[in-house]
This record gives sequence, structure tokens and C-alpha cells, in this order.
Amino acid sequence: MSKGKVYLVGAGPGDEKLITVKGLECIQQSDCIVYDRLINPSLLEYAPKNAERIYCGKLPGKHMLIQEEIHEILVQKALEGKIVTRLKGGDPGVFGRVGEEASILKQHGIPFEIVPGVTASVAAAEYAGIPLTHREYASSVALVTGHGCKENGPDHLNWRALSGIDTIAFYMGVGNLQNICRQLMQNGKAPGTPVAIIENGTTKVQRTISGTLDTISQLAASEKITNPAMIIVGEVVKVREQAMWFEDTLYKTKNNTNTQ
Ligand code: SAH
Repeated sequence: MSKGKVYLVGAGPGDEKLITVKGLECIQQSDCIVYDRLINPSLLEYAPKNAERIYCGKLPGKHMLIQEEIHEILVQKALEGKIVTRLKGGDPGVFGRVGEEASILKQHGIPFEIVPGVTASVAAAEYAGIPLTHREYASSVALVTGHGCKENGPDHLNWRALSGIDTIAFYMGVGNLQNICRQLMQNGKAPGTPVAIIENGTTKVQRTISGTLDTISQLAASEKITNPAMIIVGEVVKVREQAMWFEDTLYKTKNNTNTQ
């Protein structure tokens, strides 16, 4: 039997319409969809009725094993001659492990394509009215994982260098927010630097809080901000005052703080 093909596709950040046309076409022509926890499940409805749908949301503490199992599934289905879409939240190459999956496919001689997606930092910030760059406020951006930024933990980041970047977008950082703010202030960012946190960005339950490096941790705790959420640090956060739009279109509930 001839080999199938695997499309490694970015599903976008939440709003199902933020997938690319190419990504949607991959879903529509697939025999098998292997999908992650953070994708909008309504995208699965675009797959052919009889397409196999395999959920591979990662379970805490089981990362390695699960990732290997995903590799096995992709290889096995493609060797059966199937067209497979591996659907990942946001962009597959931004904290999405697409490099590992692509190299396994290459090792097995399986054809594949990587289809970019709209990544959560750009999308959540823009749905909160925050551009990551701005002629007056920011000419550099860093995309950073806050996953390992634990208090007293081994530090994988060059905080001094990071503090020199105008806009810093932290993925997976909410649990370590206090330490992230402390490190940035200790390494040269002013305590009054604006910070926004966007929870469930681009979805109907998007919520944004904003403050400064020295106030945001307390605010996030009192507002009970949880994952998935993006932390955006930098003067660009001020633009929200003039450019906020999406949350105005949502129901204003008690929890929808829209804090400046
Ligand atoms: N590949 C993805 C990122 C995966 S890491 C991308 O390009 O977007 C998962 C982290 O992304 C979450 O912990 C959170 O920080 C961020 N994230 C994903 N979806 C989000 C959303 N809808 N709103 C805010 N942050 C989100």
C-alpha cells in the first residue's frame, strides 16, 4: 500500500474562524484527525463523517510517553495509506513540538507538510486591543515559555537579556506569574511597566485584566485567572485603552472585568 501523508496544522487560538484556508482544507480531506486539547472542537465537524478522530490531549506528568504515542499513531496511520491531519492549538511551531513530530515522519520517509496557524500571543493580544509592536512603544517582541519559571527552580531564561525586549509574551506562565514579574523587575524592567493577562483569548469567554509588574500578580489572584492565558508585558498594553474591541461585543458579566 502506498504511504499516506501527514499535515501538521495550526488550528489557531480559539475562535474557529482563525484557522487558515489551507488548514481547513487539510481537515476536510483527512481520513484521520489527531487533535490536541486546546483546539476549538467545532473544527472537527469539518472532517469527513467517517474520518477517525483521535484525541491526544496531554495529561500532566505523562508528557514523554504521550508524545511518543502520538508519534506512533502518526507513523502507523500514514503507513496504512491514510491522509492524517495533526491539529495543534495556535501555531504548530510555537511551543507546539512540531519539530519532533516532523523529524520522526522524515525518519520514516513519510511525506508531510507544516501548515502555520495564528499563535495565541498575537491573537489574544489583538482581541484585547493590544498590538505586539507599535511605532512609538515597541520595536521588539519575545515569545517566551513561562512553564519553567518556578520560584527557586532551575532557570532556563536569560532575564537580563529579556528585560531589554520591548514586548514580552509569556505562554504557560500564569502559575509562575509572581516569579516572572519579580525576575523582570530585578533585571531592569520598571515596576510600573504595563502588563495584561488575557484568559481564553478569542473565545466567547475571553477575559482581560491589566495592571503593572508590581500589581498584576495580586490582581490575577483576586480575579482567579486560570489557563489558558497569555501574559503580555510592555508599553503596548496601554494601546488597549483606545483599541479594545472584542470584549465590548461579549456579554458583560460580573466576571468580565475589562480592567484597564
Ligand atoms: N502552539 C500554541 C501554544 C501552545 S502552549 C500557540 O501557538 O498558540 C499553550 C499556551 O498557549 C497556554 O498555556 C497559553 O499560555 C497559550 N494559549 C493557548 N491558547 C490560548 C488562548 N485562547 N488564550 C490565551 N492563551 C492561550
